[in-house]
This record gives sequence, structure tokens and C-alpha cells, in this order.
Amino acid sequence: MPNESGTCVLCGERRLLTGEHIFAAWIGRLSAHAEPNTTALIFSRGVRKIEVVDLSKRGGHKNNTVNVLCESCNSEWSSDIQQATRNILKPILDRKVWFISLLERKVIAVWASLFVGIRQYAHGAIPVISAEKMKVFYNSKAKIDKLEPFKGINVWMGSFDGDHEFSARFAALRLAEEVHYEDQPNTYICTFAFGNLIFITWGSVESAKNDQLIPGTILLQQFLRSMGMCEIWPGKVPFQENRPESLTDDDLISLLDAAVRVIEHAVADSIRLPNW
Ligand SMILES: [Zn+2]
Repeated sequence: MPNESGTCVLCGERRLLTGEHIFAAWIGRLSAHAEPNTTALIFSRGVRKIEVVDLSKRGGHKNNTVNVLCESCNSEWSSDIQQATRNILKPILDRKVWFISLLERKVIAVWASLFVGIRQYAHGAIPVISAEKMKVFYNSKAKIDKLEPFKGINVWMGSFDGDHEFSARFAALRLAEEVHYEDQPNTYICTFAFGNLIFITWGSVESAKNDQLIPGTILLQQFLRSMGMCEIWPGKVPFQENRPESLTDDDLISLLDAAVRVIEHAVADSIRLPNW
């Protein structure tokens, strides 16, 4: 994707946007091969158009980028987040350990917030996390341990042994009293997998809606625990020390849809918005 001028979704400055990898470079280097024969709809924000990208021609998901960050945010601002996350996840990806301390869990939650904030722009739906909220996230950074995850974000991680590496899916929902009120999504669910790890994150950007989300969250937690997934954030449950049984490609494909259904059933007035 060519560089284009636009508003950076992190710092809010109008600059040249340089093409942020949905999967950071250190993740791309984990695997020699990437999933071929897949297409993705990429929302190119600077010119507000959607292009269909054949990822097999671009070398797979690890070359999948969205033009939403400026050079400074892409390389400098996010570099210590990526580095800190890499240091925590590398021994787990190498199957040497299966443990993350409470402090490390916060680092992962910050990194997952950044991932979701970028991933939401990879399709044409209206972004769930607004430019204002992204700016708050940007401004909270002085040091990695000062940076706060998105308020209300839930992050879970599991073991994965499928072939569909570099997969990321995003669902936008509206939790509202008015069934026909559907102009702006306020709730996100994002699943992604790389190497032998699979993640699911969800949350609402409105505090009041996060309360509304609680029944869905409780059901979803039970569902994820039954699948062997572990809570990373908000970090109320001790992290289990033994690697759980691995999830498969079928689980990867059904996880997002299952999570959407759980939340829709638990929160009666939720509306599912179109997404890819
Ligand atoms: Zn920027």
C-alpha cells in the first residue's frame, strides 16, 4: 500500500502515514511461512476507500498493513511496547514456559489495546475506539509501566496448534437501549492468532455499557475457561502455570462468532454491525 497523507490515529497529527503492520515485525519473523490464498478488505483511511487485497500476492498476513499511523508512532512510540511484549511472549512461543506475571499481564493488555486499535481500521466499518480515545491512550504514555490498557478491555490467551497463523478478526457491536439506534458501534470483540498462541479481546468504550456487558463477560469467561484459555487482563484470576490443551483451526474460526453470540444473548439489546 503506498504511503499517503492523513491523520494519525494515535498522535492525532496530520502526517505521512507509513503503513502499520497489523502483526508487528517481530511477530512476522516468528514464522517462515504465512497463510496463502487469502484476501482481505483493507480500509485505507487517508482517502477513505476500501481495497481488496490478495494477501498471497503480498507474502501473506505478515505483510498486511493499514495506513493509520505516522512514522513516529509506528516506529518510535510503539517500539518499547513491542519489545517488552516480545520479551514476555518469546519464551512462551518457544514452549519453554507458560507463565506471565501480573506486571507482564498489564504489558500484554497494553499491547493488545494497541493491536485492537489498529486492527479496527482494517475494514470499512465505523471504528469502535474513537480518535479521542486513541489520543488518550497515546497521551498516557510516559513509560511502558505508566501506559494503561483500554479501560474495560478483557484479554485472554490460549495455546494454538492450527495452521492459520496471522489471522485477525474483528466484530463491532452496539449495546443500546434503542434497538434501531445503530449509528455508532461501542463494543468490540477481536480474535487473533500467531505462532502457537491465540488471543481474544473484548470490551466497550462506554463505561455504562461495560456494566451492561458484565453478564456477557461472565458467560464468555466461563466459555473461554472451558476451552482452556487463560485470563491475561484484568488479571483477577491467577495465571495457570501449565500450558493448556491447544486450540485448533476450527476453534479459531468459531471463536469470534461464538463470542459474539454469547454477548448478544446475554445483552438482549445488542446489535451486530457489519464487519469483515
Ligand atoms: Zn502519530
